[in-house]
Amino acid sequence: MSDKTYLDWPFFEDAHRALERDVDAWAAKRLSHPGHGSDVDAACRALVRDLGRAGWLKCCVPGAYGGAREQIDSRSLCILRETLGRHDGLADFAFAMQGLGSGAISIAGNDGQKRRYLPKVAAGQAIAAFALSEPESGSDVAAMTTGARLEGDEYVLEGEKTWISNGGIADFYCVFARTGEAPGARGISAFVVDADTPGLEIAKRIDVIAPHPLATLSFRNCRIPASQRLGDPATGFKVAMQTLDIFRASVAAAAIGFARRALDEAMARAKSRKMFGQVLADFQLTQAAIADMATGIDTSALLTYRAAAKMVATETSQQVIDRAVQIFGGLGVVSGQPVEKLYREIRSLRIYEGATEVQKLIIARETLK
Ligand SMILES: Cc1cc2nc3c(=O)[nH]c(=O)nc-3n(C[C@H](O)[C@H](O)[C@H](O)COP(=O)(O)OP(=O)(O)OC[C@H]3O[C@@H](n4cnc5c(N)ncnc54)[C@H](O)[C@@H]3O)c2cc1C
Repeated sequence: MSDKTYLDWPFFEDAHRALERDVDAWAAKRLSHPGHGSDVDAACRALVRDLGRAGWLKCCVPGAYGGAREQIDSRSLCILRETLGRHDGLADFAFAMQGLGSGAISIAGNDGQKRRYLPKVAAGQAIAAFALSEPESGSDVAAMTTGARLEGDEYVLEGEKTWISNGGIADFYCVFARTGEAPGARGISAFVVDADTPGLEIAKRIDVIAPHPLATLSFRNCRIPASQRLGDPATGFKVAMQTLDIFRASVAAAAIGFARRALDEAMARAKSRKMFGQVLADFQLTQAAIADMATGIDTSALLTYRAAAKMVATETSQQVIDRAVQIFGGLGVVSGQPVEKLYREIRSLRIYEGATEVQKLIIARETLK
């Protein structure tokens, strides 16, 4: 059982503390046996449905469209992801993608677009996805080549998006494409594309070490009404960055949730594993590892709630989980063990939504100012 004293820190309101208590109780019941089986698509769909029924997805959209608060509240997202992440990585993923996948609509959509999509996202009745990355444009987002050409009252999309989480199970995709008003970042617009639009295909499913729905999408003569554009033409890059700005801090929170779980598992193991006439936790080297893990988690949590520090939280969480695997010895690398799962689940958080190196560049730029 995790230490919950962090909830007393001044960053939280009573509403956040109540949220943590309620989602933790829900997760303890719903996610107590998170063996999702081999059908990760079905598991994800069921998680979205149940997260919606339980009301947690309301935190992913603004109040007027079925949301919990007037505006999306970053700390509520963090509480939810940290708590879900502690219980089950796939549940955290299913939750996070509803917010990230619909964020462009919340930010730039008009009233009609928001009414059409957001209440269903909040209820878990529509699955969302965020389609920004391309094979030749990951960290360098402005290098994207997928195009959207205006023909009459339609846009025609051509190109490829890859690494798209929920690709294959999403009901709609928020797609960023080049509309050509200017080179680079200033010539990109945002669109919402329904999954059943002719010309949008799932080109390839991608298997990753922590399985979740992930795909490459292809757009070939994919025609959408011009009314599916989100916001003004040429504002897409800004919309994408604003979406990531809201949800990136919650990646840090998910990492902290994983790390807290790893520490819980490691302590339980260290206290029960007998060796050399005592238990593993009696050895000072183990105690030093536990101390490093606990301070790493607290440091990350303080920085996350204070400064949305994705870099510190994800890098530290990786180290904490690695220590937990070490404490488990051989058991730590057995498939299905919680720490083995965490070891696979943490890795991509250091890459997506701004890799650590990109975070460093931004921090250095602000510091050098
Ligand atoms: C599991 C997973 C889920 C994802 N889900 C989505 C999604 O839903 N939607 C979406 O649009 N994308 C998604 N992505 C894509 C993700 O955003 C990209 O992987 C990320 O932006 C990095 O791009 P890249 O993989 O092309 O790596 P590259 O851009 O080739 O970067 C490779 C590495 O270069 C380093 N690097 C980057 N910039 C610099 C620099 N300036 N100096 C030095 N080193 C640098 C970093 O270490 C980086 O990891 C997902 C990725 C993963 C792994």
